[in-house]
Amino acid sequence: MSSLPKTQRSVRINAHGGPDVIEIVTDAPVPTPTDNEVLVKNTYAGLNFIDIYFRKGVYPTSSFPLTLGREAEGTIAAVGKSVQNFEVGDKVAYLGVGAQQEYTALDPLHVAHVPSGIPEGVAAAGILQGITALTFARESYEIKKGDYVLIHAAAGGFGLWLVQIARVIGAHVIATASSDQKLAIAQEHGAEFLINYSTQDWVAEVKEITKDAGGGVAAVFDGVGKDTFDGDLEVVRRKGTVVSLGNASGAVPPFTIARLAPKNLKLLRPQLFGYIAERGEFEAYSKEVFDWIVEGKVKVNVHKTYPLEEVAQAQKDLESRTTTGKLILKI
Ligand code: NDP
Repeated sequence: MSSLPKTQRSVRINAHGGPDVIEIVTDAPVPTPTDNEVLVKNTYAGLNFIDIYFRKGVYPTSSFPLTLGREAEGTIAAVGKSVQNFEVGDKVAYLGVGAQQEYTALDPLHVAHVPSGIPEGVAAAGILQGITALTFARESYEIKKGDYVLIHAAAGGFGLWLVQIARVIGAHVIATASSDQKLAIAQEHGAEFLINYSTQDWVAEVKEITKDAGGGVAAVFDGVGKDTFDGDLEVVRRKGTVVSLGNASGAVPPFTIARLAPKNLKLLRPQLFGYIAERGEFEAYSKEVFDWIVEGKVKVNVHKTYPLEEVAQAQKDLESRTTTGKLILKI
């Protein structure tokens, strides 16, 4: 512990608002881990849409300053005396609060060792979206070979993961995105049907594609939210599943459950942590995600690596819909 600095660079907000509320402070204290925590020296941190929700107050917080970031990779810099299985110097990646800074102290519940075959930055780029896509593809709606599934924002970070997982399973992936370039990327990753929802009537297109396959998709995975939710209910087949997993276009307004009745639909609003609350669940899913990366079953697409100091620009880019795949920060 004695060689650790006392202060560090940290991405903070002190209020909800636009990208200008993001500050890089240089004198944030380096935390001392409790007996049950590890201290990680972060090398790369992932950027996720959830950072924007917290900054804007879509997911409000009452406690400021708030350090942004939910995932990172790095090395263990200190270990609390009750912690087992981690040692100083171990290369790890984790899910946890306050990842966009140099040092983060956290309970090791969601900390995983990174296998040697994974290049620098890729664990930070893959751990959150990879585990989300895998848990949702297994547990929110279990995608099966031959299913028609609709994936909105399919060229985004989460979207490209789910497209690849569904392809490995053998499903027919219908991908939406806001540009033909984005759709081409989704196609390279395994999407079979492509719909530009900025220029095409995506509801009519999905109905046409699935007219001989049960009259709709078996499931829709929707991280867009407000703009697509009503259409989701139209394109899902009888007994199908709507997985409403995010709000990139805004939150889905209050909803009358009787709307599920005509087709006996299932509707979920899952969050990642509900599937990995127990250590065994996290270990199994993180191992599988890393194995799939090492074996080349899935490709982690890093759109751009930004220096930590450019985090506000990175958030602007993500929010402006100009990015594909994953954005990461080099710390
Ligand atoms: P993405 O890289 O997918 O970026 C978001 C994409 O959403 C954009 O690229 C854009 O794609 C699309 N989009 C549609 N409408 C808008 C809009 N009005 N403003 C901005 N973007 C819009 O981000 P992530 O991979 O980080 O997240 C994708 C979704 O998954 C988010 O909703 C996120 O909250 C959710 N998520 C949920 C989790 C959970 O536990 N429930 C965990 C992880 C992610 P296009 O231009 O093609 O429309």
